[in-house]
Amino acid sequence: MKIAIVGCAGRMGRMLLKHVQAAEDCTLSGGTERSDSPHLGADLGVLAGGEPLGIAASDDVEAVFREADAVIDFTAPAATAHHAGIAARTGTALIVGTTGMQAEHLDALAEAARRVAIVQAPNMSVGVNLLFALTEKVAATLGIDYDIEIVEMHHRHKVDAPSGTALGLGQAAARGRDVELETVYEAVRDGHTGARKAGNIGFATLRGGDVVGDHTVLFAGEGERIELTHKASDRSIFAKGAIRAALWCADRKPGLYSMRDMLGLSEDG
Ligand code: NAD
Repeated sequence: MKIAIVGCAGRMGRMLLKHVQAAEDCTLSGGTERSDSPHLGADLGVLAGGEPLGIAASDDVEAVFREADAVIDFTAPAATAHHAGIAARTGTALIVGTTGMQAEHLDALAEAARRVAIVQAPNMSVGVNLLFALTEKVAATLGIDYDIEIVEMHHRHKVDAPSGTALGLGQAAARGRDVELETVYEAVRDGHTGARKAGNIGFATLRGGDVVGDHTVLFAGEGERIELTHKASDRSIFAKGAIRAALWCADRKPGLYSMRDMLGLSEDG
């Protein structure tokens, strides 16, 4: 499979260039950058931190899409919405890791997905997506006698809390219990809080050092406790998950898919 990377000079773009070159079953066919990027014309091999490949970062987006079987996009919402339209025109599968997508951008993905296969996930790590599915399953199996608490730790520069992944885990747990997270959400505790309310899902946040992302979901019952933990130590997990999703798209019929579909963890999958 021929894979191209849009936004190929970004942090994730460079990581993707490196991992597509290293992966079996695929070759790197091209890369794009913004028309005003200082990296236009740069060799993709050099951008990835290796030897020159003889392929330059281009702003001829349509040509790069036509040349590829799948395009991986970790850029910005408006750019991704634009890319979705091109993917539909050129019949190229699209893997979207861009976050912060608003309704208008998601509508553009849904529209394009009538023509091509698109996989979209705010977290492309295979491990994290497995943790979502396990959390939902365990929450559904254990029931309300087990208190659910979600603990996350990230590096000292992170500005939002809890992390999007922690909230995603809370949503998975709530889904397992057939409730809306908003109705059982319990943020950080401080002072005289009173006893824990049955059925609530609690969140605790730690910040420090260079931690890439640790998440634990605790199910605390009387006499036993189950803990599901994922620890990310390298951003390459997102690149590897995206490449796996691109390979999965080969010959897949048009549609908007999640990582959960890709991993075969959907109820009907
Ligand atoms: P970054 O700013 O380092 O890289 C983005 C790149 O996209 C830049 O090089 C920029 O020039 C380029 N770009 C912007 N508009 C473009 C356009 N129209 N055409 C071509 N290139 C364009 O950011 P990053 O850290 O690599 O993250 C990128 C996105 O991926 C963010 O939305 C981030 O939240 C998301 N992300 C998602 C996951 C996941 O697992 N889904 C993981 C990490 C990051």
